[in-house]
Amino acid sequence: MGQHYLQQKNDTLSIHEALEIIRENLPRATSESLFLEKAIGRYLAEDIYAPEPSPRYTNSAMDGFAVRWQDILAVTEDHSVALRVIGESQAGDQFAGIVGAGEAVRISTGAVLADGCDTVVRVEDTEEKDGSIHIKHVRAQGQDIRHRGEEFEQGELLLSRGARVNAAAAALLAGAGVAKLNVYKPCRVAILVTGSELVSVGEEIADDQIRDSNMIMLKAALQEAGAEVVRSIRVTDDALTTQRAIDETVADIVICSGGISVGRHDHVKKAAVDCGYTPLFWRILQKPGKPLYFARKGDMLLFGLPGNPVSAFMCFTHYVKPLIAALNGVAFGWPMISAEASDDIANQGKRPNMVRVKLQWRPNSGYSISHAARQGSHMLTSLTRADGYIILQPGQVVGRGERIDVYRYEFLREPI
Ligand code: AMP
Ligand code: MG
Repeated sequence: MGQHYLQQKNDTLSIHEALEIIRENLPRATSESLFLEKAIGRYLAEDIYAPEPSPRYTNSAMDGFAVRWQDILAVTEDHSVALRVIGESQAGDQFAGIVGAGEAVRISTGAVLADGCDTVVRVEDTEEKDGSIHIKHVRAQGQDIRHRGEEFEQGELLLSRGARVNAAAAALLAGAGVAKLNVYKPCRVAILVTGSELVSVGEEIADDQIRDSNMIMLKAALQEAGAEVVRSIRVTDDALTTQRAIDETVADIVICSGGISVGRHDHVKKAAVDCGYTPLFWRILQKPGKPLYFARKGDMLLFGLPGNPVSAFMCFTHYVKPLIAALNGVAFGWPMISAEASDDIANQGKRPNMVRVKLQWRPNSGYSISHAARQGSHMLTSLTRADGYIILQPGQVVGRGERIDVYRYEFLREPI
């Protein structure tokens, strides 16, 4: 367990300090052995070495004829050489004999190269006449052959720990005969949404009610981040109900939404403490998402996200997502990209501002950013119309043409 940061009353942490506290409290990643198909989408908890070489056997790269180079030396533009076709090597049904002088074997792509041969001549460079094959064009000795082990030898590193088992990786592993692998277990997350004013989408709504968008946002974000949602509930703003809900929730991470400000109906912080959680921080000098709350009880972590949808999303993205990534063996961090401001972007406020920006690709000069319109912490369009965000200190201006690091929303993952 990491050190506790003892936060003073009314004290506000910097973004950096808050991240440090989260890093100090990272739970240990755990892994399990799964069959390849069950492991899709997971992250490798081990380096994978090739159990066998690739290709496993020397084979043809083309449909054509397997021949002996010495037999076709005489081929020129106006002189072809005739060879006797003595059999066929198909993928999955290799030719059993040995090819001798003046002989050839019909061969398909991926089929075992017939014994005695050292070259493949493509179909289009030949002509079949009177039971023989006439070789009309040759390229080089050994052409169109894939040699055993030319891609990798047995024992070579194929994939490193932290790599995602995506479509290409799964194909590589299947091809190389890796049937079982050690992958990280997804961290188990519970979602607890608070708010008496909330109704679900599709339900009837009164004039003074609000549709709950944080529940679905968190479910989607957790799925994208590679976590498993083990529980999701919504409670009214009632102290006892909130406490009971936290008390009966067992998960690696409990994510609460709303109820962490200073209002009379904000019960999450007290409820967490009453359930035995130790507060690690509350309030960060940032906009949006100032009231973020973080606590710990044994191996369980609890985040209290602000209820405002944009604040909740930004806090999740900047603080919770890197933690989930770390539990998948990926470096604690964000997918960054450098981009040039296409106009002045300023922070005129008193807090560091996570300014949502739109990225645009310009051929030859790279990415540029522009300020996404209307950035209120209740305005979800500031997220859907943006690709990422920049963090500007109070008074900081990024001038037109200046470069700045952008935190991208998509998680391009780098192994630790
Ligand atoms: P709170 O942090 O609970 O004070 O909520 C701050 C603001 O966010 C209020 O306007 C809430 O109505 C709104 N809000 C809280 N939770 C949600 C939610 N799950 N979905 C959408 N808006 C919410
Ligand atoms: Mg609330």
